[in-house]
Amino acid sequence: MKQIRIDLRSDTVTKPTPQMMEAIVNAEVGDDVFGDDPSVNELERKAAGMFGMEAALFCASGTMTNQLAIRVHCAPGSEVICDGLSHIYLYEGGGIALNAFSSVRALNGNRGRISSKQVEESINDANDVHQPTTRMVSLENTVNKGGGSIYDFNEILKIKKVCEQNNLILHLDGARLFNALAETGESPKDYGKAFKSISICLSKGLGCPIGSILLGTDDFIKKSRRFRKAMGGGWRQAGYIAAAGIYALDNNIERLKDDHRRAKSIGQMLSRKNFVKEVYPTETNIVVLELQKNILAADFVSSMAENGIFCISLGEHLVRFVTHLDFTDEHLAYFEKCMNSINIK
Ligand SMILES: *Cc1c(COP(=O)(O)O)cnc(C)c1O
Repeated sequence: MKQIRIDLRSDTVTKPTPQMMEAIVNAEVGDDVFGDDPSVNELERKAAGMFGMEAALFCASGTMTNQLAIRVHCAPGSEVICDGLSHIYLYEGGGIALNAFSSVRALNGNRGRISSKQVEESINDANDVHQPTTRMVSLENTVNKGGGSIYDFNEILKIKKVCEQNNLILHLDGARLFNALAETGESPKDYGKAFKSISICLSKGLGCPIGSILLGTDDFIKKSRRFRKAMGGGWRQAGYIAAAGIYALDNNIERLKDDHRRAKSIGQMLSRKNFVKEVYPTETNIVVLELQKNILAADFVSSMAENGIFCISLGEHLVRFVTHLDFTDEHLAYFEKCMNSINIK
């Protein structure tokens, strides 16, 4: 019998389905640096239309789309306000300093979500030469390190107001925005109205092998395209992967709720185990749990791996599981069986 392997390290581990592969193989392509790849152009038009935004730029990764936004919005010496758990701050290789010569005001929010009041209190005095110039606010929805937590859209609107009153740019790292929308019922257009720029990932819950999209005004996207080229991110027959993106936007959004249901089951199973101190509220497809103080995340991760289940450590006692398109109800049943017998060494 084939050894079972259930990879819940991330929702980036999915492989294209046969239908997605068919879309890839049959894609019409051209040279995107010349602007004539029809599939890339269609994907960018489609995404911009969904969000009611002027333009879009298809990029290799979510790090690239976030960093382009920061690079275009910020001048050297600027400051970005975000939560201390943010991907842009923790997991993008110091890109804010490296690409935009800017600093970060990392706030301590509620599982990665900051409030309008916190933003208001963190804006520097533009007339004080000691302080970096506050230029942009970046929110993440859902918050990866917050355990897939969802923003309250009313709070986002309050933050938008603070930004408008203080001439700040509001950016969204929406790597998993569609996971949030699947639960709240808000629309991409609501988000398109609230933010100046948005980054979404196709390579996470939407199941594409590669790709992220940056959204914003024509002028912003034009500038981003220039920086993308300078970063070495201009690509040629990218239509093969854009075709996967088009397929995903058409077919893989509705099903995200299944991932959430399975994540909630995992969260419930884990919360009953005596080696688990706390499971963060499971709102979407991410389960983050804190182990009891005498159990190390690394040991838990390797015990799970011995049973064919792969997860990752997010800290000394913190572990993350992420459900996705390749994780089925059959896998969930196996997971439950495993949980009933597991011993952490
Ligand atoms: C995955 C992710 C990104 C982008 O990551 P890439 O691996 O560069 O595509 C950005 N923000 C969040 C919250 C993410 O989870």
